[in-house]
Amino acid sequence: MNAIFLRVALDTPLDTFFDYRWVSSSEETNAYEPPRVGQLVLVPFGRQEIVGIIVDIVETTTVPADKLRDVIAVRDALPALNAEWLALIKFAADYYQRPLGEVALPALPKNLKVAKTVSLDRALKKLGKLSLSQDATVQAAPALNAEQQAAVNAITQTRKFTPYLLFGVTGSGKTEVYLQSAAKILAESATGQILILVPEINLTPQFEARIRDRFPGLHLSTLHSGMAEGERLLHWLAAHQGQARIVLGTRLAMLASMPDLRLIIVDEEHDPSYKQQEGLRYSARDLAIWRAHQLRIPVVLGSATPSLESWHGAQSRRYRLLELHERAVKDAVLPVVKIVNLEREKPSEGLTPRLISAIRRRLEKGEQSLLFLNRRGYAPVLACDACGWISNCTRCTANLVLHKGDHRLRCHHCGLEQRIPRSCPTCGNIDLQPLGRGTQRLEETLANIFPEARVFRIDADSTRLKGSAAAAFERVHDGEVDILIGTQMVAKGHDFKRLTLVAALNPDAALFSQDYRASERLFAQLMQVSGRAGRTAQKEGGSISEVLVQTRYPDHPLYHALMAHNYQSFATDLLQERQQAQLPPFMYQALLRAEARELVTAIEFLQQAASCTLHTGITINDPIPMTMTRVANVDRAQLLVESVSRPALQAFVKEWIATLRAMKSRVKWSVEIDPVDI
Ligand code: ADP
Ligand code: ZN
Ligand code: ZN
Repeated sequence: MNAIFLRVALDTPLDTFFDYRWVSSSEETNAYEPPRVGQLVLVPFGRQEIVGIIVDIVETTTVPADKLRDVIAVRDALPALNAEWLALIKFAADYYQRPLGEVALPALPKNLKVAKTVSLDRALKKLGKLSLSQDATVQAAPALNAEQQAAVNAITQTRKFTPYLLFGVTGSGKTEVYLQSAAKILAESATGQILILVPEINLTPQFEARIRDRFPGLHLSTLHSGMAEGERLLHWLAAHQGQARIVLGTRLAMLASMPDLRLIIVDEEHDPSYKQQEGLRYSARDLAIWRAHQLRIPVVLGSATPSLESWHGAQSRRYRLLELHERAVKDAVLPVVKIVNLEREKPSEGLTPRLISAIRRRLEKGEQSLLFLNRRGYAPVLACDACGWISNCTRCTANLVLHKGDHRLRCHHCGLEQRIPRSCPTCGNIDLQPLGRGTQRLEETLANIFPEARVFRIDADSTRLKGSAAAAFERVHDGEVDILIGTQMVAKGHDFKRLTLVAALNPDAALFSQDYRASERLFAQLMQVSGRAGRTAQKEGGSISEVLVQTRYPDHPLYHALMAHNYQSFATDLLQERQQAQLPPFMYQALLRAEARELVTAIEFLQQAASCTLHTGITINDPIPMTMTRVANVDRAQLLVESVSRPALQAFVKEWIATLRAMKSRVKWSVEIDPVDI
């Protein structure tokens, strides 16, 4: 009998590892390899059996002999997770201040973490035939223009850590730069892998198709949250075993195991969905930079409207800036952006006469229009004129949204649903009015004005069924739609060939939001959605592509920058404001959140948290209720801490968390590093 001890990371909130005994059976010593770090093991935990990861192998343990339990099984059919992957997880756990097991295990497919190994044995068998050496020939790549070529050369010339910011207007051929850089790097080695991150795969099936068409001989894995578990395991395994030479995925793919990663690409790097907003609140973009640094490989952040963090990175020369100034398709030009002053041109049902006639012209020419309204449902609230009643959610600081299709009032925050009341619940008035406008109402209005047009809506409600978003976009591509109404879902990446008119109905709200990032987001959204127009050369007799922005604030600098397609000047101004106001990226932040039945309980906890510590170089702000204070009957408050030094903030938060744990408060709390929604 030969015993060693395995130190195992488990998915528990306890910030510690767990030791188990492993005994090699003496007759079969040759039959069993000793376990290795990075292997998965099935172990007893309380009364359960759960899967963990071996993080160390030790010869002695402080666990008393009578408490020590044996490993049930080592998953030796699965190649061990390598040291680089473990280092990435360790970094993420340290940086975001979470127990390692809570980061490592959720990063693995569910089917690896169940007691039975059937699905794994299946999946392994399936992939068994897939060889590493694959055909990396590319199909029909267009000749690059000079700027694209310069970008590809820069990205592929070095074999060391270099972060690039690929800044190019919509349609300037960024994707082409990714694909040709990938081709070059893949051709250089028989096993190299490429990771491409996108904000949302379901919305951009074209991207996946483009990769498959370009590299028909290579195995591509996709990873995103909408996959069935069996499928997820297959794709993850192919990446982990090096068989997938290209991995295309959403933020969660950043934590995939890839043994020979040579290039990371983050497309639409400004997109807020790269930040996970629950559990481990990580930024996939930031982890991409760290991972590239660790592996000494290039990383490309691409966008037409880079995040201010990345733009600042390029300005301060931490990132290398690569620019594409023009649209790649010959004669495709950026649309003309025009401001429609809502004070002068009065809208009816949200549409100004100018917009209506612009849509009519498109209809006459068989061209498409896209109306952007970032609010789903029929109307954001139902109201009674007689007594002032409005439909608010009894569980949240929010209104119930009117959904006409299924006659419901619905809370978009907690999911509470009610039938639409026939009369006012307080005064009995039967004449209840929908206030404001959502996409459903707009759809109804347009169908009335243009009865002959094919009006189509794409938002989270219309595409709730799996796969229906892809089908909806297909319809638009196939020209079966004349007027498309959409939320931000339509802003991303789509190439609508016959689209010559884009209109933003009323984007003003974001200009005055409390969230200091709102205008950065609005600008990016409007640039993105504008970028859907004019992606092909203007047809003979066809319309000039235009973007109409209806606003009450026609002189706002944001709209002026939009008209001039001038991201740079907008970003420069915003960065200056951020510097003056001492906001990120000139300041590092962490946010302590607390939740309780009563707001005072949460605030008291935060006050206690604020006073239990003193630190130089750290600013601790006052606790405040969150903007949306109540969600699903829980009150929420927050406390912001800041520092100009990232290491100082890290060190402080680490100590602080230990203190907070020791307080053993019953309030539910969590700490977020680099919060974006505050
Ligand atoms: P982006 O990712 O910047 O939006 P894409 O790479 O999708 O741009 O390119 C926009 C359009 O231009 C696509 O239809 C693409 O096929 C085409 N395109 C890109 N590069 C070239 C090129 N060098 N020559 C011809 N067409 C190109
Ligand atoms: Zn009333
Ligand atoms: Zn609610």
